[in-house]
Parts: sequence; C-alpha cells; structure tokens
Amino acid sequence: MTSESLNQFLTDNLNDLKDKGLYNVIDPVEGPNGPVITIAGRELINLSSNNYLGLATDRRLIDACIEATKKYGVGAGAVRTINGTLDIHVKLEEKLAEFKHTEAAIAYQSGFNCNMAAISGVMDKNDAILSDELNHASIIDGCRLSKAKIIPFIHSDMEDLRSKARQAKESGLYNKVMVITDGVFSMDGDIAKLPEIVEIAEEFDLITYVDDAHGSGVLGNGAGTVKHFGLSDKVDFQIGTLSKAIGVVGGYVAGKKDLIDWLKVRSRPFLFSTAVTPGAVASSIEAIDILMNSSELQNKLWENSAYLKKGLKELGFDIGESETPITPCIIGDEAKTQQFSKRLNEEGVYAKSIVFPTVPRGTGRVRNMPTAAHTKEMLDRAIAIYEKVGKEMSII
Ligand code: PMP
Repeated sequence: MTSESLNQFLTDNLNDLKDKGLYNVIDPVEGPNGPVITIAGRELINLSSNNYLGLATDRRLIDACIEATKKYGVGAGAVRTINGTLDIHVKLEEKLAEFKHTEAAIAYQSGFNCNMAAISGVMDKNDAILSDELNHASIIDGCRLSKAKIIPFIHSDMEDLRSKARQAKESGLYNKVMVITDGVFSMDGDIAKLPEIVEIAEEFDLITYVDDAHGSGVLGNGAGTVKHFGLSDKVDFQIGTLSKAIGVVGGYVAGKKDLIDWLKVRSRPFLFSTAVTPGAVASSIEAIDILMNSSELQNKLWENSAYLKKGLKELGFDIGESETPITPCIIGDEAKTQQFSKRLNEEGVYAKSIVFPTVPRGTGRVRNMPTAAHTKEMLDRAIAIYEKVGKEMSII
C-alpha cells in the first residue's frame, strides 16, 4: 500500500465512523480532573472520571510526588530488571501485598499492560482461558497475546461457566485452564459472582484471575472485591490499577510469592519497558496508606453515589442494576444517547455517552461516576440538569 492509498483508507474509515456517530471527540481538560473540570473555558460538574476517592488531586499525594521527584528525579532511568528498580518501587510492592492481603505483589506501568503481562506471562498455546464475555479490553488483548484457547462464557452466568469448565477439563486438550473475570464490571457496575467462580475453580482445578480495577478502593473496606467476599487466599491473581481509586498511574498483580517471582523473570513489560516514575510511585504509596488507615473517603463515595442514584431514579431514569458507585443512565438509542450527553454538557454536566461497540446495540447510556470529592450541592445541581434535559428530550 502506498502512503497515498493508506491515507485514503484512513480518511474513508474515519469519515465512516463520523457518519455513524462513532467517532470519539476528545475534549482536553484545562486543569485538575476533580469534581468540577474546565473544558474550553467552561466549568462543568465532572461525572466521568475514575478518580473515585478524589485522590488524583489530593494535597498529600501531590506533596509525596514532589518530595520523591526532588529526591529521585523525574524518571526511573531504566527497566526494572536493569537498574530502574528504585527502593520505592520495592516499598510500593510491599505495600500492595499488605493492602491486598497476599504474600507479594509486582507493579507495572499501567493496568492495561499489567493484564498483557500477567496473562501472557503464565498462559501459553497449550492452555485455555475461560473469560467472561464482558471482560475489559486489556484482558481480551492479554488473552490473545498468550495464544491460549479463549473460551468466552456468558456474562456472570455460572451454569455456562461450569459447563465450559467441565468441557475444557474433560477434553484433556489443555495443560492449564484459567478463569478470568473483572471484579466490578465498568459499564453496568455489577459485581462478579466470585464465591461461585471460586467454587467452580476448585471443582475443576482452574487458576483464578480477578481484575479489580473498579473494585479496589471501593469495596471490601478499600481492599477490593476479593476481600469483600473474604476470598483473599482463594484467588491466584489479584489485578489492580493505580489509576482509578488510587488516583495515580500504574497497575499490579498481587498473589503468592512464586507467582510474583515468576512474573518478575517472565513478563515482558516488566523486562522491557521503563519503570513507573518515582513521583507516581510515591503518590501511590501515600494513597494506599490513606486507604489502609481510614474509611472516610470510601464512606463518602458510597454516600454520594447513593444520593445520585436516588435522585436520578426518583426522576424516572433507568439506572440499571449497578451494585457499586458506577451509575449508568440507560437511554437506549445511540444517537439519542449522544444528544443527551451533549445537552447535559451544554447545561453544565460532563457525563460521557457510551454506545455500541463498547456496550451492546440499543443499550446506549450516559455513565456517571460520582466520587468522594463531589459536594451535595454539585450533585443537586447535576440532578437538576438531568431533570431539565430529560424532560426536554422526553426521556422522563
Ligand atoms: N482493567 C479494567 C477492568 C479497567 O476498567 C481498566 C481501565 N479502563 C484497565 C484494566 C486499565 O487500567 P489502566 O487505566 O491503569 O491502564
């Protein structure tokens, strides 16, 4: 393909996405990603960040970042296995293990590359992975990279999982079989049925892998979904991100010491990609300390999300069956969902629309992410704007 025909190919496909309303326009935020953000000079109530506890803009984390940056500089200087492992990387991993109630932990540069690293670090072409059909894109990509046979199961359907686990085991085709699930599903806010998944895993001798990006800091007194169900010693891989409730950037696996030692010698992003910056590491340590010492922010998060959910539900919006702070407002039709989000924005609420292919066709929604940092006044204002736009568009 010449560069001219490549350009034509890209232009045609971009135009096609734009015609279908599937082209994602990026609005840069001019300042901190807090409960109120500024975009194009306008202040908006922010209901679209993953900054669940408000820690991304917390003074204590900022100070920790500044101090570490002064001491270590801005970059780690190398990959972890050469000399990019600073003493604070080790401290972070020790903290993560303590936080997750496991023997050890390994930190990566992001939650996304952590899934790529951990799945392909342990599974290979002779193995099979039972994967919830709604698992996050990074899990899907990690599974593909591993070259294991991917066997999707119907979302949170334990009968389907059991029957596929039995088939995989009885086929005798695979060395190892793993079951992977999100702890909390980010589009609907439902929690994985971990007690049943662990029971099935024990029955069929499956490796268990839980990506708790949206549960850590939120459930289980902050320690996440696995802790919430009291299963810390029953899940082999506990995956987390440092970018959501923790408020910084990075990802990690917590588990048994041998597993973590193995990933340190076998997982490619650990071996071949530069370590996370000292400032980010120090902020993450500070955040985990805050989480382990107080439930104040989690309580505030749950209080705020209950308040928002109640307000939207009373107005007549369909907010689905979320069991966590994630609050979808389901509109259905894709174009109408996008128009709704646009009107909310014009009135002062930033709540992104999520449509096909991220969610199934006809289930377009505006997803709200209340945080511990929102005040009641902000939430009241957001609810009032939802009412105005919902009535104007005959949604309620
Ligand atoms: N796993 C899940 C379930 C997620 O929701 C996300 C973030 N969208 C990730 C992994 C990726 O995490 P990060 O943003 O730290 O790369």
